[in-house]
Amino acid sequence: MKIIDTHCDALLKLQFGKRTINNGGKPLSYQDDPQLDTNLNRLKKGQLMTQFYAIFIEPDVPSDEKWQHALEQIDLFYEEVLGKNPEIKHIKKWEELNHLKDGEIGALLTLEGADAFGNDLVKLRHLYRLGVLSIGMTWNNANLCADGAGEPRGGGLTLLGKEVVKLNNEHHVFTDVSHSTVKGFWDILELSDYPFASHSNARAICDHPRNLYDDQVKAMFAKDGLIHVVFNPPFINEDRETATISDLIKHIDHLCALGGEKQIGFGSDFDGISTFVEKLEDASTYQNLINELLKFYSEEQVSGFAYKNFLTHLPKAL
Ligand SMILES: [Zn+2]
Repeated sequence: MKIIDTHCDALLKLQFGKRTINNGGKPLSYQDDPQLDTNLNRLKKGQLMTQFYAIFIEPDVPSDEKWQHALEQIDLFYEEVLGKNPEIKHIKKWEELNHLKDGEIGALLTLEGADAFGNDLVKLRHLYRLGVLSIGMTWNNANLCADGAGEPRGGGLTLLGKEVVKLNNEHHVFTDVSHSTVKGFWDILELSDYPFASHSNARAICDHPRNLYDDQVKAMFAKDGLIHVVFNPPFINEDRETATISDLIKHIDHLCALGGEKQIGFGSDFDGISTFVEKLEDASTYQNLINELLKFYSEEQVSGFAYKNFLTHLPKAL
């Protein structure tokens, strides 16, 4: 069954490989390097239809170097992911997802954290032009647009953050709440035409700041937003560091019980996580999750989770 996966951190790994060449690092081949959970061979084996690629700048990168890091990751997306793999097709506009041919894998850029552009909206407009189709205001720390989920202050959007959400609306770009504070979530939900949780689970099942409370989940569904579950064990179980596919399905069950059957999907966080759900260790193992889901849900429901729900919620002019 085809899969759309809305979050991975392969670009950060590719950048790290390239930047550390002088210190024993090596350039990673996107085709088959085993260090990449989402390499092309694994995407093919997992039957991925489309993979999202986050631009993510680690918080310890000095502010005046962040834009350069973002450009390097975008360059690696164009050169290594797209440039060397003709079967991977760049999705620069949402409707292009509907025109992928059999054997082609869509690839699209997202931004995880406004730190990359600081307060420079010229840079933000360049990101839109380069094909960024979903923007999360923060990672876990604060920046000029908002506080992140790990920031004790727990603030919401700044004036600049609100302006960015409006620009996202104008460009038909998702505003991703996955790393938002609770306050930031509600600010985004009020302003965004296209709210999205690219990689978050249910807080009722696992009480972690990266997950969503039931009132948030219900409000997201009421606003026609999507929630894509994440495969990171600390966001699946709060009492242990490991997780099984059954544990992950508890989150899917809960989101469905809150009315999300047609508004949920998958955002693995592969290449950004260091522990894994058993039997779901990289993109090649995706069908293990599908096969398990088919024991409890109909083919129509599972294909919804896997890719169809996303395709029926593409941002378009309102
Ligand atoms: Zn993340």
